[in-house]
Amino acid sequence: MPTHVKDLKVSGKRVFVRTDYNVPLDQAGRVTDDFRIRASLPTIEYLLEQGASVILASHLGRPNGSVVPEMSLKPVAEKLAELVQADVHFAPDCVGAEVASLVAALKPGEILMLENLRFHMAETDNAPDFSKQLARLADVYVNDAFGTAHRAHASNVGIVKHIKEVAAGFLLMKEIEFLVKAIESPERPFTVILGGSKVSGKIDLLKRLADVADNILIGGGMAFTFLSAAPLNHNVGSSLVEEDRLQFASDVIELCLDKGVNLVLPSDCIAARQITEAADARELPIRALEDDLMGLDIGGRTVISFNAILDSSKTVLWNGPMGVFEQTPFQDGTRSIARKLCDITKKGATTIVGGGDSAAALKKFGLAGCVTHTSTGGGASLELLSGIDLPAFEALKGAK
Ligand code: AMP
Repeated sequence: MPTHVKDLKVSGKRVFVRTDYNVPLDQAGRVTDDFRIRASLPTIEYLLEQGASVILASHLGRPNGSVVPEMSLKPVAEKLAELVQADVHFAPDCVGAEVASLVAALKPGEILMLENLRFHMAETDNAPDFSKQLARLADVYVNDAFGTAHRAHASNVGIVKHIKEVAAGFLLMKEIEFLVKAIESPERPFTVILGGSKVSGKIDLLKRLADVADNILIGGGMAFTFLSAAPLNHNVGSSLVEEDRLQFASDVIELCLDKGVNLVLPSDCIAARQITEAADARELPIRALEDDLMGLDIGGRTVISFNAILDSSKTVLWNGPMGVFEQTPFQDGTRSIARKLCDITKKGATTIVGGGDSAAALKKFGLAGCVTHTSTGGGASLELLSGIDLPAFEALKGAK
């Protein structure tokens, strides 16, 4: 394990904290979801209490090396200022002479937020010179950006070589502990509920789950590739099917049979001809899907069977919505599952939501915060759960 920030002496030091403030902004440039900002507070507050000065660095969006004013971190600095009891200054760039003088003027107990790292191509290129320039700003480096930990960039991998003291922040450690424990030593029965549009992207995860899960429940668009695959060979109308993943889906079905994993697929769905708010949606058994109908949510019978398994589970991992939850006619399945997760959490189950769309769904239904842990990183949590090393975490471990 890397050094935890609480094991460092930071009083009077300048601490560079890589956070993940890649948050959604509305057209007026206001932060519409401050979940990731709140999640970064334990580390920031700890450092301020210890008498450090804090330099915060993040990316926002994909400006691809250009200065894109709509992707400035200024609104994030303003939001952070509402949440912490400290002065939050803002730097117009993340490297250069002006930034250096702002850093020099920073007092213990104060925060300086740097402008979007990705305004420089060197960030995603992990360019050594850029890493060195960032490292020069501080005495200590703390990585707390779980959402970016699956990328090897200058501010989360390159920088580690150029700064003496490095550590993981509270959020990064908490994310890793929850997700690794869930997959390596879960309290059983351990149920995984997967959804979202595609099987691709979840290949490694599915292979690993077949070894560790007791139940795998599959909803969302990806269920239709499984339903179409041998040995089921269902006709699923115009539902989303990844032809090039049919063999993989068959292999997973067989693997689950071999290993005694209970793989459950939808028996019914909410079907429509278009994905619109005004769609004429109807509930149908899978076998009744006509050629021009798409399955766009799980149906009521499927919800009942999924919920019965969730009710008796001690650990649940949820990744991916059960339907096109962004549209009203197709949101009920995802909402029912989200409610059930909240319900079993109250009864003592450990429930973990893998970030991304599932976290967005919880928020949409007013259920954010009711599960045990919601990850701040969709992509990073998927890779970690799949058994893939996260470069940013490995870099911290490898540091002296
Ligand atoms: P992913 O990016 O693979 O995690 O997929 C997330 C997206 O899957 C969401 O935007 C949903 O609207 C979409 N989705 C969920 N269920 C379905 C479905 N049955 N058909 C098409 N898209 C779906």
